[in-house]
Amino acid sequence: MRDATHAAIQYALNEHERADWTTQPDRLCWALGIRIIAGKRSSAHAGPPAIITLAREHYAPRQRFTMHHEIAHVLIQRAGLEDAILAEVDDEDAHRHLEAVTNYIASLLVMPDVMINHALDTYGQHPETILTIQQIARVSLGAALRRFTYAQRGGVTTLLTSGAYISDLASTDPYNRLHRHQRLPDIAAALPGAQLLSLPSTRRRTLAVLAM
Ligand SMILES: [Zn+2]
Repeated sequence: MRDATHAAIQYALNEHERADWTTQPDRLCWALGIRIIAGKRSSAHAGPPAIITLAREHYAPRQRFTMHHEIAHVLIQRAGLEDAILAEVDDEDAHRHLEAVTNYIASLLVMPDVMINHALDTYGQHPETILTIQQIARVSLGAALRRFTYAQRGGVTTLLTSGAYISDLASTDPYNRLHRHQRLPDIAAALPGAQLLSLPSTRRRTLAVLAM
């Protein structure tokens, strides 16, 4: 991982520890001395005073992640690492890269290691672990799926199908050949080694974990 990104993640983890690993965004803001105010769009200013503006139009789970996303921006700015993170990649990719790092830090704030490890101890490398993380953290299934996947030490591929297609996928397996939007009409036959879980839904949805 790149140096500035790595330093920003470490800074955020240290700050989160000082806030007792709370996953409540308003409590985290209070502990970090960040004010939250309503705004036309969501934004973050490290200040001082540190202020997050939040747009009201987001639906609840996304709003929660949006707050953590803006907190992550404040932490990156406070660490003095924003320019260094932007400079890690080519100019045209710089802002997309900063947003990706910010999203990754936000996912650590809303789904800390202690939460992941507890769910893993209970259900192991199984789709139930992803559902548990999603329900406790109150994030989207996609956010929980990514956090679960990148927390694994060995290579693992997780995916969600909707009807006959893969609708979301994350992988740390270098040999993975599956991809989003791929047709996969019979997942049990196509991936005999995968742990599968059917989700209650009008569309046929299956969550799968495939360990190397
Ligand atoms: Zn952002």
